[in-house]
Amino acid sequence: MKVQCELCPKMCLIQPGQSGECRVRINIDGVLRTVDGTEGSVQLWIENAVRGDTVEQMGLERNGPGLFGAQRQLMHVFDVIIFNIDRNDRNELYTLTDQKLHLIDHSRAFRTPHEVVPPSLPEPRPVSSETAARLRRLDRHELDRLIGDLLTPRQLEAVAVRRDALLVVLDAHGLLPDAD
Ligand code: SF4
Repeated sequence: MKVQCELCPKMCLIQPGQSGECRVRINIDGVLRTVDGTEGSVQLWIENAVRGDTVEQMGLERNGPGLFGAQRQLMHVFDVIIFNIDRNDRNELYTLTDQKLHLIDHSRAFRTPHEVVPPSLPEPRPVSSETAARLRRLDRHELDRLIGDLLTPRQLEAVAVRRDALLVVLDAHGLLPDAD
């Protein structure tokens, strides 16, 4: 039986055996359970953040060779890996004083398709050597170590397959630096 959680504005309708978006409240046999005796959700407030489109309205460059461009490229790689189909100006937040990009709202990520799909394909410039090295290390064993207790086996398998596909796509387009 599905259960509606009303603890926060997300108002999750939770399937049996699944958790809400916060991953704290779980539907077990039609009853909402807590984790470690804790009932609630985690929220992060980013002070003085502006949306992606606001950055451009301010005349600042999001995609150029600067710091934001490098962070955005990493965002595209991340979105491919997690199959995030919901990246938009509202969930790219920027803090201008420290020049940081903050990624929020990944509630539609970690689905199980295996393809590398637009619009999440990286922009056509090489990923950094550091990103390439991290991608190469991110095999199934490493995924299990890092997030094995957070995702289902199908989700983990899909992440691993998309990582493999992304390496192939990047290499085919000359965007993957050689391994050291
Ligand atoms: S995010 Fe968590 S606390 Fe909020 S409605 Fe969903 S399950 Fe309940």
